[in-house]
Amino acid sequence: MSGKHLGPQIVPADAVGIATAAVRIVAGEAVAVPTETVYGLAARADSPGAVAAIYAAKGRPGFNPLIVHVPDLVSAEAIAIFEDRARLLAVKFWPGPLTLVLPLREDARIAPAVTAGLPTIALRCPAHPVMRAVLDASGLPLAAPSANRSGGVSPTSAAHVAQSLAGQIAMVLDGGDCPAGLESTIVALRADGSWQQLRPGPVTHEDLVDLLGGEAESDLARGIEAPGQLASHYAPGKPLRLDASAAHADEFLIGFGAIEGHFNLSASSDLAEAAARLYAALHQAAAAPQPRIAVAGLPQTGLGAAINDRLRRAAA
Ligand code: AMP
Ligand code: MG
Repeated sequence: MSGKHLGPQIVPADAVGIATAAVRIVAGEAVAVPTETVYGLAARADSPGAVAAIYAAKGRPGFNPLIVHVPDLVSAEAIAIFEDRARLLAVKFWPGPLTLVLPLREDARIAPAVTAGLPTIALRCPAHPVMRAVLDASGLPLAAPSANRSGGVSPTSAAHVAQSLAGQIAMVLDGGDCPAGLESTIVALRADGSWQQLRPGPVTHEDLVDLLGGEAESDLARGIEAPGQLASHYAPGKPLRLDASAAHADEFLIGFGAIEGHFNLSASSDLAEAAARLYAALHQAAAAPQPRIAVAGLPQTGLGAAINDRLRRAAA
């Protein structure tokens, strides 16, 4: 019996679950898998059919390239051309929530749709033990965007995935809540020696500047390269007001610190806790009876930059 009409089967991420997911992925299916950032919809990156299944399940526009997940630096270097700065970043932040955009090797066995025709590829080595076990068991690089309908709120639990992709996929591996809760930081390293942060995330801008020196002037002509940067993304389906200090009568208030709200991101004003709870808050706000959402202000420092980036796009 296919779970396609009832929503995906939610399978515990034990040894049998992981083996089953890997077998399905090797056979060309897209399976939702937990990572330390958000749940990913993983499929073999070398198969045009498997990659097409990701785009179809998400309703994702074909010009929006996918991040490829690898178990280690050696596998990454078979796909992209690494220079010193790329190795430095990989050694410092992998496995972890940093994605590197690098020149694609001509001999890389990657389906063209993964990069949406770009000469570069986005690579990440994830830290989550379940995603790492799936990578090991499948023995393949895996393309894995967030496991939600395109443009919607990202999933940080198996239930979020099941809700968003009901009827679109057959299986979710349930590894509990995602610890970081925000998509990876994306950095592009340029041939001219400059670099650019394409998406803020758990590895902060400050971390990157420490290693790479100052970032180049942002070049908006390169905009198409990072469609994840589209103004509207992570949309909860209701108007969202930022920097709120109190709720209006028709608002569900997402609080932070002393601004309690209906759902508090972190009563102790801890940004890591707020990041981990952000998408759960947006899912809850979307399901609440109030027709509008308000969010308390958060500092713009460290992880706050990434949280505020997602909130601005959710509000757009
Ligand atoms: P996600 O939607 O979390 O899978 O993130 C995918 C995002 O990674 C895309 O929307 C782009 O912003 C970025 N990305 C993937 N591949 C590339 C690439 N070759 N060059 C620049 N950005 C990329
Ligand atoms: Mg996404």
